[in-house]
Amino acid sequence: MKHIAVIGAGTMGNGIAHVFAQFGYQVNLIDVAQPALEKALATIGKNLDRQVAKGALTEEEKTTTLANLSLHTDLKAGVQGVDLVVEAATENVELKLNIFRDLDAHTDPSVILATNTSSISITQIAAVTQRPDKVIGMHFMNPVPVMKLVEIIRGYSTSDEVTQLIMETSKKLGKTPVEVNDYPGFVANRILMPMINEAIYTLYEGVAGVEEIDTVMKLGMAHPMGPLQLADFIGLDVCLAILRVLHDGFGNPKYAPCPLLVNMVMAGKKGVKSGEGFYTWTHGTKDLIVAPNFSA
Ligand code: NAD
Repeated sequence: MKHIAVIGAGTMGNGIAHVFAQFGYQVNLIDVAQPALEKALATIGKNLDRQVAKGALTEEEKTTTLANLSLHTDLKAGVQGVDLVVEAATENVELKLNIFRDLDAHTDPSVILATNTSSISITQIAAVTQRPDKVIGMHFMNPVPVMKLVEIIRGYSTSDEVTQLIMETSKKLGKTPVEVNDYPGFVANRILMPMINEAIYTLYEGVAGVEEIDTVMKLGMAHPMGPLQLADFIGLDVCLAILRVLHDGFGNPKYAPCPLLVNMVMAGKKGVKSGEGFYTWTHGTKDLIVAPNFSA
């Protein structure tokens, strides 16, 4: 595989495009919004500069990486001639099903269709295509150029051959792929989200304040950041959506999202992306002044 398309140029799409381009793939980055494409290119440029400054990449490699990228707003034109598509558009079931119907119609039947979804069923997405054996989850972690893990999710019909190929492709990107089966939340979010939800319940019940909870988990469990700060980074709306997938998928009340999380999302407090969540954020930097109504 030499030529790929990435659908969606947001937080994850720009990182995925960056990594594939850096490792020599020709990448067509596709987004419905032209400003998202321009922002993605600027972000990739900044991140490449950082890699050059750290000595991880040469100026020449940066230039080659950028030359491997092309930007498109039209899906049909953008997927012509590619061997693999990695979809990283907004986390919404109907939107993804429509994208996969279009991808199935506009790519050669041999093309592998991967999705970076955090929680939507790979089997459900695969079922709207005529090639469910070639649909697979390729769940990169944020920030993509830095994080080593790719969770490779096999849908009910994903073939051994496709799984093997995507595992090998992930290794070629310098990543460590881990193969898992397609059940709600896969592995990463099935374990992470209940922990974040429990941290929010701990705050909601007044057991401790935001910083106290995060400090316990950082210093006590050697986590690089506390669960509430991590939730702000992920996006509280995203955390809520994933918890709902777990709750609906397993029908088990232990996954019910904490009412405080639901309220915060309804109030527009989504974490870093909205400027406020469990912490207030300025220019992407953690401001340690915790919103007063959330102090225990
Ligand atoms: P984002 O909101 O930053 O970006 C989504 C992009 O998709 C936007 O630029 C939007 O314009 C574009 N888009 C929407 N509809 C489209 C369409 N029909 N065709 C092309 N582009 C379209 O979202 P994100 O955080 O990058 O998440 C993308 C995917 O990655 C989601 O499935 C999410 O669950 C998953 N994911 C996110 C994270 C994370 O930490 N943010 C981590 C792992 C996986």
